[in-house]
Amino acid sequence: MQDFWFRLSLPMIFGAIFALILWGWFSATYALWFMLVFVFVLLVRHAWQLHKLGEWLGDKRLEAIPEGTGIWDDVFSRLYQMVKKHNQTKQKLATQLLQMEQATAALPEGVVILNEVNRIEWFNPIARQHFDFNSEHDVMQDITYLVRQPEFIGYLQKSDFSKPLMMRPARHDNMVVSIKLISYGVNKRLLISRDITQFERIESMRRDFVANVSHELRTPLTVVNGFVENLQDMPDLGNDSARQALGLMSEQTRRMENLVADLLVLSRLESNHNPLRHEIIDISRLLDEVCQGGRLLSNEKHDLRLEMKDNTKMLGNREELRSAFDNLLGNAIRYTPEGGLITLRWNEQGGQQIFSVKDSGIGIPAQHISRLTERFYRVDSSRSRETGGTGLGLAIVKHIAMRHQATLEIFSEEGKGSTFSLVFPDRKMLA
Ligand code: ADP
Repeated sequence: MQDFWFRLSLPMIFGAIFALILWGWFSATYALWFMLVFVFVLLVRHAWQLHKLGEWLGDKRLEAIPEGTGIWDDVFSRLYQMVKKHNQTKQKLATQLLQMEQATAALPEGVVILNEVNRIEWFNPIARQHFDFNSEHDVMQDITYLVRQPEFIGYLQKSDFSKPLMMRPARHDNMVVSIKLISYGVNKRLLISRDITQFERIESMRRDFVANVSHELRTPLTVVNGFVENLQDMPDLGNDSARQALGLMSEQTRRMENLVADLLVLSRLESNHNPLRHEIIDISRLLDEVCQGGRLLSNEKHDLRLEMKDNTKMLGNREELRSAFDNLLGNAIRYTPEGGLITLRWNEQGGQQIFSVKDSGIGIPAQHISRLTERFYRVDSSRSRETGGTGLGLAIVKHIAMRHQATLEIFSEEGKGSTFSLVFPDRKMLA
């Protein structure tokens, strides 16, 4: 900086010394005139350099930076360095951005960057394919104007994005995409879309296969079971071993019938062509029926209690809820030794409706709890078979819960008992 001021004032110092010499040799008037002309020339020079700087600011190309003299040489060379460095940084950033764009373009998933008001800031080519975005017009558009499916808009408005949304894009009816939102930065969101059409096709084939096999098995099984029962009833049935064999056959065919029936229930619950039909359910009556069924099953071997307030009503599918409640109570009865206490409860907590079955039975070791709703998962398979279980009961309960937007919660302590609860969201409740 000192150097700058020194170089700026150097011509003035020389001019002043020369003016002093003129004063000494001639007169003050000569010196004054000289200084006037000298300052004027200096001003014109600075004005000219300023003009060149002004011209360059309108151009801004590095190679167009003007050459200056005196202090302006210094200013222009510093400006040159600065612009050169700036251009290099810009170039580096542009290369990095291009690499990032190429990397995200190569991703097999669609990526959309949304701002805090759901406007699209950027998307990659796969997202363009999934949602038919237009690169020219759709940037900074509200995504809800372009993807209008109600389930998508509902998903965007949620605050919990832990579960992905499956949907069919508007113009690709035969495609299924899974959508997930990830929050980042300050109110920014990343929307990831994945084409799961193939996976869905295989899933649907699997569902159809299980449904068809179960359906085909049902008739021959009924016939076999009918004949076995007829044979058992025949008065002239020979020896004990034949009677024993027929007993075993009857037991096994009944097990298979139960299994096929449960598989068919699961297939129906999973089917896309079976939307939930809602009705107003009188919960008190429903639970009375469930409790009576439980008493028959328990055969007075357990202390069965029902705790609930009167006049509770809920919107849902009665048949499905009955099946879920029956399953949970059936399990409690089958896994609770004689004399145990089983409590059915319906209560409200924080606006949620909760159905729970608490038993004082054998309980479940902690490591098994998270897997209980898997098909055919059993803690102790011999015990489950002994009690007539198919291993599908809790899978059915979980599906019914999902169809009612409810969650299944399980608390259990080995040797002390278990509590299975179905927690229904507030909006299901009717006044
Ligand atoms: P299952 O037909 O074998 O009972 P479920 O799907 O209904 O099949 O239950 C899965 C497993 O969870 C059962 O095999 C059993 O080990 C365990 N289970 C379910 N309910 C209870 C309960 N109330 N007490 C103890 N264990 C239970």
